[in-house]
Amino acid sequence: MTPSRFQQAVLTWFDRHGRKDLPWQRDITPYRVWVSEIMLQQTQVTAVIPYFERFMASFPTLADLAAAPQGEVLAHWSGLGYYARARNLHKCAQVVMEEHGGEFPRDVEALTALPGIGRSTAGAIASISMGLRAPILDGNVKRVLARLHAVDGWPGRTAVSRKLWQLAETYTPAQRCNHYTQAMMDLGATVCTRTKPDCEECPLERACAARSQGNPRDYPGKKPKKKKPVRSATLLLLERDGEIYLEQRPPTGIWGGLWSPPQLDEESGGEGGARAWLAARDLDAGEIQPLPPLRHTFTHFHLDISPVWVQLTDTPPQVAERGSGWYKLRQINRPRAAQELGLPAPIVKLAKQLLALQAPLLSESPAP
Ligand code: SF4
Repeated sequence: MTPSRFQQAVLTWFDRHGRKDLPWQRDITPYRVWVSEIMLQQTQVTAVIPYFERFMASFPTLADLAAAPQGEVLAHWSGLGYYARARNLHKCAQVVMEEHGGEFPRDVEALTALPGIGRSTAGAIASISMGLRAPILDGNVKRVLARLHAVDGWPGRTAVSRKLWQLAETYTPAQRCNHYTQAMMDLGATVCTRTKPDCEECPLERACAARSQGNPRDYPGKKPKKKKPVRSATLLLLERDGEIYLEQRPPTGIWGGLWSPPQLDEESGGEGGARAWLAARDLDAGEIQPLPPLRHTFTHFHLDISPVWVQLTDTPPQVAERGSGWYKLRQINRPRAAQELGLPAPIVKLAKQLLALQAPLLSESPAP
């Protein structure tokens, strides 16, 4: 699709269907467009409208905003989230007052140098409120262009972003750039939406690569997920007469303050580590048996647990010092045991596994 046909299609669609009565589309000034653009980052139009109106009622001009105490500005932002936006907004107003005589510079590069104004926001201010030819590439426009040209990859990657900016630059018209910018934002927000693109209502349908491939939702590419690191640990399941030995863990770190079997480090784990641990405490073990490993996933890593079952032959007078005790396996098997006893879920799982191994033996003795 040539740039001129593209522009014509988008502008005709805007004339017929575009939104033209949003609060920031009335009395257009660089100040109002800038505030709305900052509010609309990460936030939906309907949520922004009341905030914008309250903000404009309290700070009708750039000078009012610059002179306001920061707390008052933040209070007007309360509920919108991402408060760095509000702090930058306030700072930016003061910079424009001090360094630009209270007028936003009529130049994309100079706008981009102001606090909190990125390239796309600068393009929106310049095109919508100053009538300059300036491309934008906010989330909505990225989505439309990535689908139209089936641009692979996550836009956070430099090469993908560069490609999308090139497309944005190519399609931006010299005439009616203010309407074109609003049209592209609107098209992304109302037709080419993230999860339900309404291709039949889209002015770009016939030229859209993702539409003809039948997979618009695959564009733009998702941020690659980071692989979680894997840590490993050996847990010593000391068991005697249907009871398991547990220690209270330190207050910080994984399972802080909860109860678990003694844990051996990666280096000193396994069956050998278990024997060394017992020897250091002068304990005799009957049978030592590794059990199937278990993976538990935390927010930032996987923990591969290697349980080692140690059947103590005698009753040790004292296995460990303070913060430890013997728990009946059957007690752990009860519903809500994890909450009542303060046990991490994988420990309950392991105790149940041990109980299953002990079942024939325990069935001979009465439950506690
Ligand atoms: S045809 Fe569909 S996928 Fe392509 S730009 Fe339009 S709405 Fe988006």
